[in-house]
Amino acid sequence: MSQKRLSGKRAIVTGGATGIGYGIAKRFIAEGARVIITDIDNPGGIAAAEVLGLNCEFVHHDVSVPADWDRVFAVAADRFFGLDIMVNVAGVTLMGNIEQLDVDTWDKTMAINVRSCFLGCQGAIKAMKSDGGGSIINMASVSAFRPQAELVAYNASKAGVDMMTKSVALHCARSGYGINVNSINPGVIQTQMLEKVISQVDNGEALMDSYKAMHPIGRIGEPEDVASMAVYLASEEASFVTGSGFTVDGSLSNN
Ligand code: NAD
Repeated sequence: MSQKRLSGKRAIVTGGATGIGYGIAKRFIAEGARVIITDIDNPGGIAAAEVLGLNCEFVHHDVSVPADWDRVFAVAADRFFGLDIMVNVAGVTLMGNIEQLDVDTWDKTMAINVRSCFLGCQGAIKAMKSDGGGSIINMASVSAFRPQAELVAYNASKAGVDMMTKSVALHCARSGYGINVNSINPGVIQTQMLEKVISQVDNGEALMDSYKAMHPIGRIGEPEDVASMAVYLASEEASFVTGSGFTVDGSLSNN
């Protein structure tokens, strides 16, 4: 029987109650990992962990709050005695163009999408650097390099995640920590986040059709498409891969 790709690895996945985070946690467990999923959504997180089984545990967590991160890393240290994989997935898409968006919405987007990755990277490095290294994966988006007028805060936040990933990777590489740091840039993926975006506009059905048409491959993505990339980046197969952004978008960004 072939060895599972993440056998014995210990992972934290934020935003794991649903969508891309849930899809990644599910694949990680199938590949032999133990996973702590975290989320601000308590009932959703508890239900997800129940479905994912004995190798999954849920911890309530607001990724924008430093004290919450301390608690999450303390649980990981307590249960796992170490950490091999950190996946920063939790995020929000709050819509508005530069003339409409208020400063609170801007700050909220930055706190949940960017500060979260900063705190997650900082804590993961502390846990991994003297324990054989590991892999950090930050969820960016094609929105990091494809602007949309109605996504001014989201665009800026994902560009921030993309560049922060490269800076952190460079630091870890030069420090000899054995910690690889990469980001994933999904195209449009079928999740609750997409459903929320569709429900926020008047012409939701037309927007969905336009999203499908943007992907030359002829469909939007599924969480499993992103999870496959995350398994690769978290595995030993990616040991020479760090400081890169991996686009998973059915060629949307070439369209
Ligand atoms: P989703 O809304 O379906 O799930 C996001 C999860 O994050 C939810 O369970 C939510 O409760 C949780 N969350 C939100 N705020 C949080 C907070 N402050 N603390 C902890 N958890 C919080 O979203 P998704 O589509 O699965 O997106 C996941 C990530 O992928 C996001 O970073 C998103 O920007 C990115 N992404 C999504 C798409 C897409 O089309 N769905 C495309 C590109 C990138």
